[in-house]
Amino acid sequence: MEASDTVGELIVLQEIDLEILRIKGELGELAAEVSGLNETVEALRARRTELTGKLTEADERVRRFQRAVEAGRTTLKRLETRSAAVSNMQQHFAVRSETDTARRNLMSAEEDQLAAMQEVETLREQLTGVEVELGAAEDALETRSAEVDVSRSGLESELESRTSKKKTQEGRLDTKTLRLYQSVSGGRKDSALACLTADGVCGRCYTAVPKQRQADIRAGRGLAICEGCGVILYPETSDA
Ligand SMILES: [Zn+2]
Repeated sequence: MEASDTVGELIVLQEIDLEILRIKGELGELAAEVSGLNETVEALRARRTELTGKLTEADERVRRFQRAVEAGRTTLKRLETRSAAVSNMQQHFAVRSETDTARRNLMSAEEDQLAAMQEVETLREQLTGVEVELGAAEDALETRSAEVDVSRSGLESELESRTSKKKTQEGRLDTKTLRLYQSVSGGRKDSALACLTADGVCGRCYTAVPKQRQADIRAGRGLAICEGCGVILYPETSDA
């Protein structure tokens, strides 16, 4: 095979490879997008579970302080009854001291209950907010997943056809050229080929190519690698 033919076949192979890279890149972006939406939904569900747990605990506290408030009121009533029945100063002072303590306890229980009720209210608001956000995130995930499925199956069939084209095209190259191309293009996300410019530099990185090698490339005497960036150099065609 003439070197110029080889270059032509390599350019075709590279076009297919760049298409394959593009398709794989798009598939990767779609997968990342859906996984991002999934993570958002999972995070919001976890937050909802956490808030629901906290709300249950806060509700229990409200009920506990409610019982403490009721018990405190009962105690005060009992002390009032006793206070009406005291028969001497000693009993009077004893009841008054107990009443002061019971009042303080009741006030403190009422404050605790109020604080717990406010906490419940705050948690309910937060939970409502999270539920709204979660609903929107679940909708976004569902809608986008359906769209992504369609795009993905299109891209996958494109990929399949490009892969079979690639095999055919590889079959048109000799093993040595193919190996060279594969070693240059492997891991690259851009062009594995660049033209040798009329000024005698690599068309990609502008490294100067030695005169003798320039002559070999232009005469089609085998393939040459750029010393600067490692791409395969091909001669600039006059009709290009
Ligand atoms: Zn170069």
